[in-house]
Amino acid sequence: MTPPLVAAPPASPVPAEPAPALAHGRGRPCVITRRACFSASHRYWLPELSPDDNQARFGACSLAPGHGHNYELIVAMGGPLDADGMVLNLSDVKHAIRAQVTDQLDFRFLNDAWPEFDLSQPGGMLPTTEALTLAIWRRLAPHLPLMGLRLYETNKLWTDLLGDSMEAFLTIQTHFAAAHRLARPELSPEDNDAIYGKCARPHGHGHNYLLEVSVRGQIDPRTGMVCDLAALQQLVEELVVEPFDHTFLNKDVAHFATTVPTAENIALHIADLLSAPVAALGASLHKVRLQESPNNAAEVFAEVPALGLKPQALAALATA
Ligand SMILES: [Zn+2]
Ligand SMILES: [Zn+2]
Repeated sequence: MTPPLVAAPPASPVPAEPAPALAHGRGRPCVITRRACFSASHRYWLPELSPDDNQARFGACSLAPGHGHNYELIVAMGGPLDADGMVLNLSDVKHAIRAQVTDQLDFRFLNDAWPEFDLSQPGGMLPTTEALTLAIWRRLAPHLPLMGLRLYETNKLWTDLLGDSMEAFLTIQTHFAAAHRLARPELSPEDNDAIYGKCARPHGHGHNYLLEVSVRGQIDPRTGMVCDLAALQQLVEELVVEPFDHTFLNKDVAHFATTVPTAENIALHIADLLSAPVAALGASLHKVRLQESPNNAAEVFAEVPALGLKPQALAALATA
C-alpha cells in the first residue's frame, strides 16, 4: 500500500475532564522543622572588666583566642498548608537559613561575624548560645514564619526561643547512676509485686539517669546570659549529682525513705531541690526531665502557674 504523501492531521484533542478541585490539605495548620548545622568559635571577654574579672566570671571561655563549637539549629515554622500541601517550600526554607545564618557564621569567629557581638559597642552582647539564638531569630524572622528556635551548642547545652524576646530557655544536661527499689513499705510483697513487677525485687536495680534542667530568664543585654551558666551547672552538681550519684536512692537520699523513688518522684524531688536556688540566680526553674532508660522519662513543669506557651512549637523542637 502506498504511504500517504501528507501526514494525516492529528486527531483533534479530546477536551480533558476538568481536574477535580483537590484541597491537598489547603488551609489546615501545621508546624514544620528544619535542621541546620554550622561550626563557629567565640570568646567571652568584656573589655570593661579586668583580665582577672573576665577569668573569674567566664573561666576557660575567656581564654584567647577563643574556642569553638559545632552548633545545631532547629527552626520550627508554622502556618496553614498551601495548595501544594506544604507550609512552605522546603527549598525556600533551606535558602533562607543558608543565606541569613549558616553562610554568614560557618567557620567564623562569632565575636567578629555579626555587629550584635561587637563588644567595643555598648549594645554588644557576648555571643552566648542565648544571644546567638536571639540574633538568629531577628535575622530569620523577616523571611520565615518562625514559631520557635532551638540552638544546641553541645548535646549538653541548648537554648529555646519562642519569639523576638529577651526571654529564653536554657537547658543543661547531665547524668548520674543510681539504684532504687519500687515498693510501698505499707504494702505486702505480693501487692508490691502486683504493682511494680520486677522493680519491686527486694535488692533493687540501677539506672544511668539522664537529667535535663531547663531554666527561663531574661537575656542580659551585655553578658548574653539568662543566668550564670557556671553557677547553674554547679548548683545541679552540688544539689543533685553529687548526693544522688552511685547511691541506693531508697536508703541514701532521705526523701526516698518515705517516698517511692519512681522516675516521677525523683524528677519532682529534683525540681523541689532546684527551684529556690535557681530563682536566687535570677532565673526560673522551668522544667526537669529525667530519662530513666531509653524507653521512659518523666517531665516536671516547675513553674506555677504554668506558662501559656505554644506547645506545638516546643514539642516540635524537642523531637526534631
Ligand atoms: Zn563556648
Ligand atoms: Zn528502675
